[in-house]
Amino acid sequence: MFGDKPKCMKCGKEIEGEEEVYIKMKWPKRKGMTEIKAYLQNEAAFLCLQCFEQEA
Ligand SMILES: [Zn+2]
Repeated sequence: MFGDKPKCMKCGKEIEGEEEVYIKMKWPKRKGMTEIKAYLQNEAAFLCLQCFEQEA
């Protein structure tokens, strides 16, 4: 899905394919966003399931 493998913002673990992942992101202002992948790479922070459960 992504060109570069996303990493967990907390533990730095690479997110594996089809791994469940939590994304923290700013909702874009402009509508009709088509470049969702580019947007996520620039604006989103990923959290792996383990770290998410630790924070909860
Ligand atoms: Zn993690």
